[in-house]
Amino acid sequence: MLECINCDACLRHCPPHFGAIFNHGPDVIIVPELCSGCDKCLPVCPVDCIYPDPDWASNAVPEDWWDEPLGPDDPYV
Ligand code: SF4
Ligand code: SF4
Repeated sequence: MLECINCDACLRHCPPHFGAIFNHGPDVIIVPELCSGCDKCLPVCPVDCIYPDPDWASNAVPEDWWDEPLGPDDPYV
């Protein structure tokens, strides 16, 4: 299994309205409850060490949530 080199690329590419990746000491952690499954973190990892959870189901997120980020009701815009 490949190991994280702590470059923070994944953290910087996780969309801010999800903000699922955090620095934790020298490591990064992904909080599954915040992760949308958008997969934007995967291609930017230079050592390919992010392993998607095979049990993660996109239908865990209500479909209309995808309309919220950057939309008129997004409180963070
Ligand atoms: S898949 Fe999850 S952790 Fe990765 S960028 Fe998307 S929301 Fe962030
Ligand atoms: S992009 Fe990959 S190597 Fe860089 S901090 Fe994230 S998991 Fe670690």
